[in-house]
Amino acid sequence: MASTTNAFTIPKTMKAWVLGGPDELSLVEKPVPEPGRAEVLVRIDAIAVCATDIEIIKHGLPAIIDGGSPFNKNFTPGHEYMGTVVKLGPTVDEYEIGDRVAVEVHAGCGRCLRCREGMYTSCLNYGYREKGHRANGFSTDGGFAEYAINSVNTMVHVPDDMSDEEATLIVTSGTAMYGLDVMGGIIAGEPVVVLGPGPIGLMGVGVAKALGASPVILTGTRERRLEMGKRLGADHVIDVTKEDAVEAVQRITRGKGVHYVLECSGAPNALNEAARMVNRGGRICLAAFPAEPVPVDLAYLVRNNIYVFGIRGEGKSATHRAAALMAQKRFDAKLIHTHTFGLAEVPTAIKYARERIEDAIKVVVKMPST
Ligand SMILES: [Zn+2]
Ligand SMILES: [Zn+2]
Repeated sequence: MASTTNAFTIPKTMKAWVLGGPDELSLVEKPVPEPGRAEVLVRIDAIAVCATDIEIIKHGLPAIIDGGSPFNKNFTPGHEYMGTVVKLGPTVDEYEIGDRVAVEVHAGCGRCLRCREGMYTSCLNYGYREKGHRANGFSTDGGFAEYAINSVNTMVHVPDDMSDEEATLIVTSGTAMYGLDVMGGIIAGEPVVVLGPGPIGLMGVGVAKALGASPVILTGTRERRLEMGKRLGADHVIDVTKEDAVEAVQRITRGKGVHYVLECSGAPNALNEAARMVNRGGRICLAAFPAEPVPVDLAYLVRNNIYVFGIRGEGKSATHRAAALMAQKRFDAKLIHTHTFGLAEVPTAIKYARERIEDAIKVVVKMPST
């Protein structure tokens, strides 16, 4: 039996990838979930693979309070998705059936101090589902499936002229925007360095340029990605295999240094290098981190009054601001979309992203168009 709401026929069950043990994903039939108050059912049209998905599939879910094991046997990962609203929960009037939406990851619990401050990606009840916490693909089911539930506070409208693939990049841009926000956000005319041309770094270049930062400088090791950075708005790119990044930044800024560094490389010495790129009183935001603890020259940070921030995800509705810039075509996010696979090919999509096969940057899983 299937139920019909307006134009959409919603089946009772759906195809969904679920996590077993480490690195074990299987495609199963699972009930289509029911939206509750302030929630909608989203038919997933496209989802991008993120490095964090790969971590979750290997190491389990972060901060699961009520489940015990980080490997929840029926859990569906995936968080960078977009789709169509096909069913409304009670009280929902913010969206209509048929709306195209991209999603933020974190709904938060809505009741803790951090959620009240807009820092819902750092919810104090993270993973505590009874208290209402939701984070798609982290503590609640995500988007490697045909349908998913979303809170109305985690959705952004997608304009008609934006492709499904591009819309999956909205939340990545939102993370870059959040990083610039926490450093002060008013960056027009101010110099910014982005370290590392991964997806967040490249979107960081696009967002910083769109906000008027000048110059925008990108560092990295791979020529193709640095080229992409230029097309996204970098005024200067530094190939760190050919040139010392700190010296290059000092050369470009004529020894003045920059005001902001957005660190997206996770390189072990990145914070020390960032400290020598910013001027006194400058700001550094860490959006990536090395796998192991690393030595940091704290005396240099303190003596130079350098501020260091860490961000998790896409807080303070930054996703809405990033989506607005993308809707206005202020930068071309789709440049970083490199590969597309179908829902049955999720393991291949993950393999491409994990091993960067054919220099994959953003690998998108696209559902058949209906
Ligand atoms: Zn992600
Ligand atoms: Zn909270």
